[in-house]
Amino acid sequence: MPPAIRFDVLTLFPGIFEGFLSESVLKGALATQKIEIRLHNMRDWAEDKHATMDDRPFGGGPGMLLKVDRVVPAVEAIRYQQEPAGRLLMFTPQGHCFGQAFAEELAAEQRIVMLCGRYEGFDERVAEILKPEEVSIGDYILNGGEVAAMAVIETVMRLIPGVLGDENSHRFDSFSTGNRILDCAHYTRPREYRGFSVPEILLSGNHAEIAKWREENSLQRTKEKRPDLLEPVFSDPTLR
Ligand code: SAM
Repeated sequence: MPPAIRFDVLTLFPGIFEGFLSESVLKGALATQKIEIRLHNMRDWAEDKHATMDDRPFGGGPGMLLKVDRVVPAVEAIRYQQEPAGRLLMFTPQGHCFGQAFAEELAAEQRIVMLCGRYEGFDERVAEILKPEEVSIGDYILNGGEVAAMAVIETVMRLIPGVLGDENSHRFDSFSTGNRILDCAHYTRPREYRGFSVPEILLSGNHAEIAKWREENSLQRTKEKRPDLLEPVFSDPTLR
């Protein structure tokens, strides 16, 4: 069976992904071909011997920008080398904030192409020409889009059938479909530690009562920790 989803990542620093791809769940998902990840070094599209991909901004100012005449051909070559061209995400702190609902939408795709910025970001014409979906992972500034790409890969691949050992394990995760609130509290052995005990109900074996306790606990925690999640969805950008 072909992988359920293929990620193509365009980056200036493919080496950043080495450890990420070779450990834990992701390693297993790649080995069993549940997902496929292709890393593309954008410097392959540089045309000079120094592999220059960036240049100084017109009008002056600090930093360097990724060049439109290098980035656009790179993205087009990768996207159209095979079908489908896939969803194109461009990482920028100015984009829509990535959240679980958007991850669930992406998990239904066959292919996701991701463009990682560096330095001061992209020449504005990259977005004007390619019309990507601009995605942020939060209101802070990273050095580059690679950590954002890893966040998207890891969040989406958990939702691909067969990737997690237990198919149910993501259903009750915080923010997930049908839930959209926080997960309940969980406990394991020992039953008591430093005077702190596991709630009796979880030891009762009464599955109906346990399910009820978990539901109430989820709601209570959400009220305490993230009351904003209980407000209407359209007012919450993190649910995008
Ligand atoms: N000058 C840009 C601005 O203020 O909007 C920031 C550039 S940042 C140093 C370089 C690159 O890192 C961006 O082009 C983007 O790809 C990535 N990046 C930084 N912060 C990010 C965030 N919060 N979410 C997604 N990507 C981010």
